[in-house]
Amino acid sequence: MGLLDGLSNMGLGKLEGAEIFEEEKKPAAPAAPAAKPKEEAPFDEASVLFDKSVTCPVCDFKYTYRAVRTGKARLLGQDPDLRPKYDKFDPGKYDVVVCPKCGYGTLTKYLGPLPAAQVKLLKEGISGRVRGIANTPILTYDDSIQRYQLALASSIVKRARDSEKAYVCLKMGWTIRGKRENVPIDAPDYDEKISQLNADENEALKAAYDGFISARQKEQFPIAGMDEVTLDYLLAVLAARFGQFDTAQKMISGILMNKAANSRIKDRARDLKEMVLEQMKMKGEFS
Ligand SMILES: [Zn+2]
Repeated sequence: MGLLDGLSNMGLGKLEGAEIFEEEKKPAAPAAPAAKPKEEAPFDEASVLFDKSVTCPVCDFKYTYRAVRTGKARLLGQDPDLRPKYDKFDPGKYDVVVCPKCGYGTLTKYLGPLPAAQVKLLKEGISGRVRGIANTPILTYDDSIQRYQLALASSIVKRARDSEKAYVCLKMGWTIRGKRENVPIDAPDYDEKISQLNADENEALKAAYDGFISARQKEQFPIAGMDEVTLDYLLAVLAARFGQFDTAQKMISGILMNKAANSRIKDRARDLKEMVLEQMKMKGEFS
């Protein structure tokens, strides 16, 4: 499947095969090992959400979206690629919103007024063609992934900066991972589902990687809210994931030599360096 597959069901069929960064496609990296699915704890997700009002910057429609109450999500830790992990639920599902009238989608981080030129592009490319976006009390993973797809489509249509498109892809990849982690072990076609979700996650993260590499060359820091050390660490993790060991090593060396990098990120960079060397040995790329 492609990152934008399913958009035709939502009225945006023309965007299904759109190029995100206008780059040559490379073969997908092998799927990451499946994580153990967790038991679903009884938890009332709606109780930590509230309705937030917004005026769509494209069509001026006023609508509400579900947002997470501050302080209601308890951080448990972070995956190596900086994805935060929370207790009981996944607030990242709510970091993307779509206007139910015109279909303009964006990360809440980028919600705000748009230049007239982008409004024009969105009116021509998206407006009125999106259907099926309802304001539900809670978002399932599928609801959220669909919104991320629409946000990616909007970011392509409005010709957003590479960092914004990359960040949408990164967060979409994390959301797909959340869905994979929550597939019940007794689900029908469990293995197939897991391997499809792994492939989808890889596709999203590879797009994020390509976009951030490009953004790093063209944009000023902070990039998608990240300083140089944080972005380079993320790029090193993603480069290692996709077997681009030279890039991973270059980013890691940069972090270890950077006086602005704190000892915590340097420790993580050192751990990553070990892992990259192990992987290179296994693949016979180490001399
Ligand atoms: Zn709108």
